[in-house]
Amino acid sequence: CGIVGVLGTHEVSPIILEALKRLEYRGYDSAGIATVRGDGKLDRRRAVGKLVNLSDLLVHEPLSGKAGIGHTRWATHGAPSVENAHPHKAGPVAVVHNGIIENYAELRTELAAAGYAFETQTDTETVALLAQSFLESGLPPRRAAEATMARLTGAFALAFVFDNEPDLMIAARRGSPLAIGYGDGEMYLGSDAIALAPMTDRITYLEEGDMAILTREGATIHDGEGHEVARAIKQIAIDP
Ligand code: GLU
Repeated sequence: CGIVGVLGTHEVSPIILEALKRLEYRGYDSAGIATVRGDGKLDRRRAVGKLVNLSDLLVHEPLSGKAGIGHTRWATHGAPSVENAHPHKAGPVAVVHNGIIENYAELRTELAAAGYAFETQTDTETVALLAQSFLESGLPPRRAAEATMARLTGAFALAFVFDNEPDLMIAARRGSPLAIGYGDGEMYLGSDAIALAPMTDRITYLEEGDMAILTREGATIHDGEGHEVARAIKQIAIDP
């Protein structure tokens, strides 16, 4: 329903939470954040219901890290529960997802046959497990994300972060909008530029089929054929 990502210079959980609040108008039934901690490990917090439940949880169980992704979920596959809330994590990768993976049942069968265990009823978990399987086969994160995308059908947007990659976020758009925000030594991602307005007014809208590799230095964008492309950075006017 709503995606946010931040490669920051400070703790990102509060920033991601604020950005998720700006997507609240979309409605949702759970929310969550995953970060890459200082020790390189992925960590996450998820809560059912309103964002205040997630912010309360974060007070009691803080989530550290200067890179992270957040999500508000509008459940399509699997009940609104903590287990089914995003971000979904599989080994060294965490993912947030908007939309629907149409071939998830087929992928689930295939991954189960390869020995991967499922913890949720979501279509999204197949994305996390696919990415894990490609990482475990030796592909670096970018190639693993590309290989994952090549297996998915449907209309969706995705964002990935990885263990031991505190300066990397990968985003892909196929059918659901995604905006990249440029900051001062920071980079942002949002399913809506409105979410990023407090942080930046310099925005690139991904086009259909694009995959973006984000580091704090900027973004490299590839189109659906894998060719590197230039996408305009626009100065937008949104009341922060
Ligand atoms: N299909 C996914 C789910 O049900 C994502 C839904 C969304 O866009 O929030 O978890």
